[in-house]
Amino acid sequence: MYKIIDTHSHLFVEEFDVDRSEVMQRAREVGVQHVLMPNIDLASVAPMLQVCQEYRGFCYPMLGLHPTEVGADYPVVLSKLKALLDKQPQTFLAIGEVGLDLYWDKTYKDEQIVALEEQIAWALEYDLPLVIHSREAFDEIYTLFSRYKDSSLRGIFHSFTGTADEAQALLEFPGFLLGINGVATFKKSTIPEALSHVPLTRVVVETDSPYLAPVPYRGKRNESAYVVRVVEKLAEIYGLTAESVAAQTYANAATLFRLA
Ligand SMILES: [Zn+2]
Repeated sequence: MYKIIDTHSHLFVEEFDVDRSEVMQRAREVGVQHVLMPNIDLASVAPMLQVCQEYRGFCYPMLGLHPTEVGADYPVVLSKLKALLDKQPQTFLAIGEVGLDLYWDKTYKDEQIVALEEQIAWALEYDLPLVIHSREAFDEIYTLFSRYKDSSLRGIFHSFTGTADEAQALLEFPGFLLGINGVATFKKSTIPEALSHVPLTRVVVETDSPYLAPVPYRGKRNESAYVVRVVEKLAEIYGLTAESVAAQTYANAATLFRLA
């Protein structure tokens, strides 16, 4: 059996309320050892913590403000999230997911940048990995992170779906890994080509459940058990066995998040 860490999964959302225990069971059955969960906004912190409490040692919470949730009220939201972090920093495995999303709405672009910088400071303060969401924002992300090249900042560029050039540019950030999910299995995906010069030591796997289900579940609700499809796709891309892809990506994630 494989040994896998799903590094990005929102199993606390209501889509899983009816059958969450079966979803967890199916994940365990395929070899998922840990599921790492980012909240989305302030309201999703409590349900996330509750699920992580219920599945202790299996599910682990992160803390952050998703860029699509950055609005006019972001300073208040950030200060509430920071208060939670200050109160129980050992609870959270990472700061995430944070970043820039200029695909859905550019209205709060400047605010998204300020919010990201503030949350980068949290990651540095508590020496936590940063899980980055970037959509239609490659240049902005690259420029911003270039300023932290000499810092101890580390983390994941989650849901990487870019080009080979973009992958190479992101590898310049030594503490960072690329999070690969079901998009890699889509017919027109650029990921197989983009990964052709990316060492597997810089890759972790994720699902982004309930979104981005891999083929043959594309369009349906995603769940952590389907991470196996991502491992198998990477095996095909790298010409390795799925077992060795699982082992290497597990080791990459375990080291980054300091998990056993
Ligand atoms: Zn996500």
